[in-house]
Amino acid sequence: MTISHIAILSSGGDAPGMNCAIRAIVRTALFKGIKVSGVRRGYSGLVKGDFREMNHSSVGNILQRGGTILQTSRSPEFMEKKFREVAYNNLKTHGVDALIVIGGDGSFNGAKNFGEEFNFPVIGIPGTIDNDISGTEYTIGFETAVQTAIDAVDRIRDTAHSHARTFLVEVMGRNSSAIALKVGVCTGAENVLLPHEEVDYQRIIDDVNRGVARGKESSIIIVAEGPKSGRSYEIRKNLKEQYKLDAHVAILGHIQRGGSPVATDRFIASEMGNLAVNALIEGKTAHVTVVREGKTIIAPISECVTKQDLHFTEYKKLAQTLSI
Ligand code: ADP
Repeated sequence: MTISHIAILSSGGDAPGMNCAIRAIVRTALFKGIKVSGVRRGYSGLVKGDFREMNHSSVGNILQRGGTILQTSRSPEFMEKKFREVAYNNLKTHGVDALIVIGGDGSFNGAKNFGEEFNFPVIGIPGTIDNDISGTEYTIGFETAVQTAIDAVDRIRDTAHSHARTFLVEVMGRNSSAIALKVGVCTGAENVLLPHEEVDYQRIIDDVNRGVARGKESSIIIVAEGPKSGRSYEIRKNLKEQYKLDAHVAILGHIQRGGSPVATDRFIASEMGNLAVNALIEGKTAHVTVVREGKTIIAPISECVTKQDLHFTEYKKLAQTLSI
């Protein structure tokens, strides 16, 4: 089948670098003589028929901007077949013959279902700061979020040191450990508390006391947020009540999602956007652009629809070894 008109959408949580992928898709498609439509606000826009044609200048000056110019959303209606059918009819009405979805594993589940039900060509591009999608070593946005968190922890370390304090710094990642572990290693954190592990309070106290004994003036404990942001307050309460340790809490929150993408995100997003269009031209469907052994390649979408916690054991060990 010849592809003459591609639609793009971003879905789920936004991530820095999504704009670089959008730009690469639009520019590659136009270079190949393919028309491109942008769908606003993810699958909701697909159901509403909220499409707009994109040209070279629609993606000018966006490479350095965080977020996504197409905007994103979570769309409960797309979970229902009757609304996916509305979406399909909208694509047909607009003459679209392939869809590229930038998002996380949830968005890929939606894309997979949709592609299978209507025999419609779909390609996914992994975009989430959590780096937790199966089948790929990298997801767009991760390195920028890590760098933002590192910058914040470095600043917190300055004040922690000046006042000889212990800080619990909570970073994003829902059930993923990836951001917390990388930030923990890169900031020399005294401990990293992961979402699926029970908090070992005695170990925190031992780590802090060991640091104090050898003259350390501050301690930083990185807390992965887990399913709900704010778990650091509970941890602080227990540390105070049961162990008489007074810790301060800093929750980094949404600042980790925004900001200008770092080089890794710009580069991989550009490669992935380009590859996604070329894969469609070659007749691929139900595939995702992934990074494996450091190379950006294409893989079946069925390998990318669950979550994974990459490097969990090795990074955890590294963080612990280096913080003694
Ligand atoms: P992410 O893509 O970041 O993992 P979500 O899990 O919230 O984010 O998924 C984004 C959207 O993908 C959902 O709001 C929904 O519209 C769609 N989606 C997720 N799972 C499915 C599914 N099994 N079938 C159809 N659509 C789905």
